[in-house]
Amino acid sequence: MQTHILIIEDESPIAEVLAYALKSEGYATHCCTLGGEGLAQLRSGHYALAILDVGLPDMSGFAVCREARTFTDLPILFLTARSDEVDRIVGLEIGADDYVTKPFSPREVVARVRVILRRRVPVAVNATWFEVNEASARIRFCGTNLELTRYEFLLLKMLLAHTGRIYAREVLMEAIWCDALDTSDRTVDTHIKTLRAKLKAVREDLDPIVTHRGMGYSVVNGVGQ
Ligand code: CA
Repeated sequence: MQTHILIIEDESPIAEVLAYALKSEGYATHCCTLGGEGLAQLRSGHYALAILDVGLPDMSGFAVCREARTFTDLPILFLTARSDEVDRIVGLEIGADDYVTKPFSPREVVARVRVILRRRVPVAVNATWFEVNEASARIRFCGTNLELTRYEFLLLKMLLAHTGRIYAREVLMEAIWCDALDTSDRTVDTHIKTLRAKLKAVREDLDPIVTHRGMGYSVVNGVGQ
């Protein structure tokens, strides 16, 4: 399962060298040259981390970060060319996780990315990881909207209805795929697999779906939940 990194950088040689270094370490990458485009990508909830250049053609990286913080808490690593920008990143609390100054070595950036993804600690005790919005058929996970298919949504919603309860495959099958024609013995398992990948893309360090061998699945919704 790959971790997706978004690179928002208008200088394509820099973006390419970063994408290459990240890919060689097993990360999947996507590059944008505009801040607006980057924000649209971030709203997909597909990424575990964003690398963000301060100087972009359409808006500043600071503005992108501020906007992103209204809907996601994914880690943001700034790329900056100037020391006065570093002062702003460090001094103002705009929600950056780290920064590197240009010119940088791609290996250094990859190392930073690794550290940031590893040090992400679970959200506060008592806080729940998931928020189900029935009306919009959406589920947020650690502050990020998940892009789910209809069946993935129904499956996760059902598991979340009773946190910790073990649901047998047959029970899930009957409740969720009752109207589906093309199902198999593996239907539940394959959907659990894609769900896990989507959760992992948001938080590499959390694994909320629990497999109970020979019994079924349950979900954990936060520390001690
Ligand atoms: Ca730039």
